[in-house]
Amino acid sequence: MSDKKFETAAIRHQLERSNQKEHSVPIYATSSFKFEDAEDARSLFAEEKEGNIYSRYSNPNNDEFIQKMCLLEGGETGMAMASGMAAMYTSMAAFLSSGDHVVASRSLFGSTHQILTKLLPKWGITSTYVDILDDEGWEKAITPKTKMIFLETPSNPALDLIDLEKICQLAKSKGIIVNVDNCFATPYLQNPIKWGADIVTHSATKFIDGQGRVCGGAIITSEELFPEIKFMARHTGPSMSPFHGWILSKSLETLAVRMDKHCDNALKLASHLEGNDALSQVRYPFLPSFPQYELAKKQMKQGGGIVTFELKGGIEQGRKFLDALKMISLSANLGDTRTIATHPASTTHSKLLEEERLAVGITPGLVRISVGLEHIDDIIEDIEQALVASK
Ligand SMILES: *Cc1c(COP(=O)(O)O)cnc(C)c1O
Repeated sequence: MSDKKFETAAIRHQLERSNQKEHSVPIYATSSFKFEDAEDARSLFAEEKEGNIYSRYSNPNNDEFIQKMCLLEGGETGMAMASGMAAMYTSMAAFLSSGDHVVASRSLFGSTHQILTKLLPKWGITSTYVDILDDEGWEKAITPKTKMIFLETPSNPALDLIDLEKICQLAKSKGIIVNVDNCFATPYLQNPIKWGADIVTHSATKFIDGQGRVCGGAIITSEELFPEIKFMARHTGPSMSPFHGWILSKSLETLAVRMDKHCDNALKLASHLEGNDALSQVRYPFLPSFPQYELAKKQMKQGGGIVTFELKGGIEQGRKFLDALKMISLSANLGDTRTIATHPASTTHSKLLEEERLAVGITPGLVRISVGLEHIDDIIEDIEQALVASK
């Protein structure tokens, strides 16, 4: 961790500037870098010293972004990635070989699920899913071949939590790598490395950019595990563009204030909706009625920017509710300044069977709200009127 507080590190950590005395870092739009002489070139390639060679390997903008991410997550080193999925895939492919086994939480981001169920089996890598709330399930799923545990907490969209300390202890005792997709919480709300995780992966597309502008990702880890990740990334090329590195380093400067506001709005919305007679359930990790409220308080600083609720009228009402919204955007994205509503059963998870949806907590009337930074009164008003109109 940095010797500075979170907000300060996110704003003040900077790479050396050029000799133009610019206050804000410029964009290094260059595919390659020059060598001083033949010896400089040789020693850079031999990795005897650090330095930029080619932007598929490293670039000052991406370095600044990833160095900040490492400070904020408490990791030693890492790599900026072109997207969240580039981070998920690279962090798995770097360590898994034919015959290896992965234990993963059942409730995962859709494309992560596709990697585990469709792609990795092509190379003889298998996986077992564990229901998040099945406490014994994790230990039972582990086999002598298990190389990695991959998880997301809070889960999407059910917001179920996994006890990071417990899972990391279990994994350590068996020499298994724990890889946590920390996209929902961001480093401001939760630091998996503090509880013992070995790798933290991010989609920076969501709250880290927070303004719906770019796709990006990050892998943060230890010096010990890094060489494998670096090797995989350098040679397969899922690197971030310098422009995106520049944007995302700027985004981090406001992450703390944005997350405070997302969380404040989300808690206000959840508290307001609780008890509404059109809803059978309102879920938010920092609501005292949340079944895992104690765990949320233990491992998260605040409850995050996502609120879910269950419409009593099921799928039909879910669709009517979306159509009745006037301000809130309909989009599959999350973590934007603009509030977004998603009805997973008819959109993001419509290809699953009903039993499969129920197994990950997606009931027919479940609505996910990514609470934005608009005034809370306007967010509440739009949801209230859509609830009335969809009854
Ligand atoms: C969006 C998302 C991803 C994928 O990130 P991209 O930047 O879209 O590639 C992975 N995990 C979670 C939890 C996400 O929400």
